[in-house]
Amino acid sequence: MADVKDILFAFSEEIRLRIILLLKDSLLCVNCLTDTLSLPQPTISRHLALLRRTGVVGVSKDKLYCYYTVKKDDPFGSLKKDLTKAFYTALKGTEPFKGDFRRLRAVEKHCNANCKVKIK
Ligand SMILES: [Zn+2]
Repeated sequence: MADVKDILFAFSEEIRLRIILLLKDSLLCVNCLTDTLSLPQPTISRHLALLRRTGVVGVSKDKLYCYYTVKKDDPFGSLKKDLTKAFYTALKGTEPFKGDFRRLRAVEKHCNANCKVKIK
């Protein structure tokens, strides 16, 4: 079981913060994340694995795809929700985060999976 230290570590690197903010309210496949962030898939997968291990990100599956989102339904759910919201509010207007949201809207149109993009 992840603890508070693990959660803070998950938020402590910019690339993971970018992934977390993209997954704040959206349900995304790894292709959408890779295309939005313009980084190699192994890099994204490595960070997603850490985010899953620390309980920050959860995954659901359909027949063909895995979908990632910020996990808010566990004992640290409200902490993750509050942290995600605070970082989003502080960073959404600055790069690279601002560009990430813009790119995600474009990438989403070409996604073959059933990703659910929700940007508030
Ligand atoms: Zn997708």
